[in-house]
Amino acid sequence: MKTLQDSLPSEFLEEYRDTPAYKLKDAVVLKEFGSFSEHQVRWPGPQKNVFFWVLIEGGKGIGWNENPATGWSFPVIKVKPEWIAAITEDLKLPFKKRLLGASPDGRTNSWELTCPVCSKPWKPQTTMLSMVRETCPKCSYCAVVDYNS
Ligand SMILES: [Zn+2]
Repeated sequence: MKTLQDSLPSEFLEEYRDTPAYKLKDAVVLKEFGSFSEHQVRWPGPQKNVFFWVLIEGGKGIGWNENPATGWSFPVIKVKPEWIAAITEDLKLPFKKRLLGASPDGRTNSWELTCPVCSKPWKPQTTMLSMVRETCPKCSYCAVVDYNS
């Protein structure tokens, strides 16, 4: 699995050890955005010169900012739920699902889903449908769940 240090330049590991981003160097990367990626989503933080950024497990974003005056920095932000919802279509990450057994009325199955973005587990409403668009109750990430696969 790709971690933050795999997504950032080698200088990041050598010269930016005193930064909040460095503490996250082993975090699993969910998606890359901007230059060198197929997903052109604007950096959702205040920095003006971020040309590449990654969303990591836990819902944080780390930018690669190149300020013309002061050089590189790697800002860390908490990505807002509405942003996660907005980029959901680009993410294509499935919820992890776990079968809990038959539903109380015995007509279908009960499941536990775990959000791939913020790791929140929860039990969605039981349904007779096989394909359902589910939304994480914590971060609003949404994706279609195929209960038959
Ligand atoms: Zn979530």
